[in-house]
Amino acid sequence: MSIRIRVNPIACAGHGLCAELLPERIARDEWGYPIVSDEPVPPGMLALARRAISDCPALALMAEEVPQPGQRPQIQRKLRRTA
Ligand code: SF4
Repeated sequence: MSIRIRVNPIACAGHGLCAELLPERIARDEWGYPIVSDEPVPPGMLALARRAISDCPALALMAEEVPQPGQRPQIQRKLRRTA
């Protein structure tokens, strides 16, 4: 399974913590709001992605499972831990 990060722009308060935790996938605009990459999170960055999602003070970040061909996307608030 591969995931990408999504942000709820209504809930986001622009704290910027997510961009500090996961700068490889989240940048900040000039007002401090996140600009989230559409690229999937590689396995080596999953722990940081999990932390960015769980530490967001506004609960505005979520993980979206990257669908396989013919599959609908699944949104997850929390990432399941694997081994
Ligand atoms: S940590 Fe949460 S509230 Fe802060 S900028 Fe990122 S998504 Fe928005």
